[in-house]
Amino acid sequence: MALRLDVITLFPDAFSSILASSIVGRALREGRVEVILTNLRDFAADARGTVDDKPFGGGPGMVLMCEPLFRAVEHVRRLHETPGYVVLLTPQGERLAQARVRDLSARARLILVCGHYEGFDERIRTLADAEISVGDYVLTGGEVPAMVVIDAVTRLLPGVLGAEDGTREESFSEIVAGGGLEYPQYTRPREFRGMAVPRVLLSGNHAEIARWREEQARARTRQRRSDLLKGRASDEP
Ligand code: SAM
Repeated sequence: MALRLDVITLFPDAFSSILASSIVGRALREGRVEVILTNLRDFAADARGTVDDKPFGGGPGMVLMCEPLFRAVEHVRRLHETPGYVVLLTPQGERLAQARVRDLSARARLILVCGHYEGFDERIRTLADAEISVGDYVLTGGEVPAMVVIDAVTRLLPGVLGAEDGTREESFSEIVAGGGLEYPQYTRPREFRGMAVPRVLLSGNHAEIARWREEQARARTRQRRSDLLKGRASDEP
């Protein structure tokens, strides 16, 4: 069954390039994922399409109002028999990591809610099953974060990446340095501007290559992201 992704946004057009491109585009065409964009503006309480208002207590910027967002989420929930797992995109949420991406990609339906302006009226948080951040920085809206989620989740769906699903060696997968960073990769030519490809990769000895890659992955993880090795006694410095 395809993963159903609903996105509530003020800028549905912003999604056209990711939905048309490369792996996500192919997954859509093959019916492995379905993306439905809903414009928050359509749920404004007045004819002028107002969705935001000044913050109580003063301060700069505008805050997304409860009424349009509650109505939009309630409408989107009714579009499908699966209620959906509501994800609010916010810099104040849990920082997205691959384990969470795996969890999201295993769900039948996600409803991604993009904020804008100064963010959400606090009461909107009661609609969310999860609040997710794509990193410790502030973007102008939740559209780019929602695209990050769509891309990361879609590539984990069965059949999307092809034959290697589930056994793909890449950063943060359990089979590379126990959830660490991937080993260095090379392609032709064998030598470029004095930089040679490590000899072991040209040896044809698969056991040696696997050993070298595992060592490289562990060394690289220790050097760049020792936080990923916490709790793994054999790797801690
Ligand atoms: N005033 C908010 C705060 O300080 O937490 C920031 C609001 S931000 C300018 C507007 C919207 O962009 C947010 O409601 C959220 O949907 C989205 N956004 C910005 N940065 C994000 C991040 N790092 N991760 C996820 N969403 C983000």
